[in-house]
Amino acid sequence: MFKLADLLKAALLSAVFVVPVFAENHHAKSPKFRTADISDNITMLRGKGGNIAVLSGKQGILMVDSDYQDMSPALQKALQQFGGEDRLTYMINTHWHGDHSQGNLHFGHKAQIVAHDNVRERLLTSQEVKLFKMVTEPYPEHALPSITYKQEMTLHINGEEVGVVHFPGGHTDGDSVVFFKKANVVHMGDLYFNGFFPFVDIQNGGSVKKMADNVSAVIEMIDEKTIVIPGHGPVSNKAELSEFRDMLRGTSAEVIAMRDKGMNLGQMQVEGLSSDWIDWTDGFLSEQVWIGILNSSLEADK
Ligand SMILES: [Zn+2]
Repeated sequence: MFKLADLLKAALLSAVFVVPVFAENHHAKSPKFRTADISDNITMLRGKGGNIAVLSGKQGILMVDSDYQDMSPALQKALQQFGGEDRLTYMINTHWHGDHSQGNLHFGHKAQIVAHDNVRERLLTSQEVKLFKMVTEPYPEHALPSITYKQEMTLHINGEEVGVVHFPGGHTDGDSVVFFKKANVVHMGDLYFNGFFPFVDIQNGGSVKKMADNVSAVIEMIDEKTIVIPGHGPVSNKAELSEFRDMLRGTSAEVIAMRDKGMNLGQMQVEGLSSDWIDWTDGFLSEQVWIGILNSSLEADK
């Protein structure tokens, strides 16, 4: 019988192999952003952290997420194609994690930052993600969200209606999904990792079950033509988002079945998941770490 401490150690050890991959698509030596055109006035920028969406037009730039702090010079350059960072009007943080919000430290001098109430709450104090041994110090005033909301809000800019909607308790306790209603584009934040097992921040209010429920709710709100921007991974669509939801539920069901047999975490990690999910192991979290997250999520849901 394993002790809890041993199980945690095992989870952390497997996580060690994951850490370098967490900062995916790393251009560590010469960081830059890859650009993908999404619509007439929406562009996706892929750097080192979470995917960024840029809506640009006469009234300025609205940007969703801001990547890591060390990516700010590269992001500043990437924004030149839209008239430069001085045109930034709004910056939305889909959640507080550093790979989506550290750019606030630089771009918070340029834009009003919009986020869910809980994002500001968390960034006011020190935060930790134990799995990645990541500590976030409190943000200075200019880098904090200045416009916060509880359930949903709409921003009107450049002829677009930008719906910012809170989906509680999925990836974190402050997740926003951003709907560009006229362009039929949605930015999912980290409720969606396209093509690999996601990180779910159980320690900070996340839950795999709620993440799947929240993804389902978004699926109900979009159509076959909607362009789906994931928090991480390539541009996507409704069909792939549905596959992701099915993976969340399918792998959860397998871990529930193993727990029902009385298996502990170490035994489940040795047993592994069925081969149905092999495609999802490529690129970010190992199957063993994902089993650990599923198990912690089920424990927390109890
Ligand atoms: Zn995240």
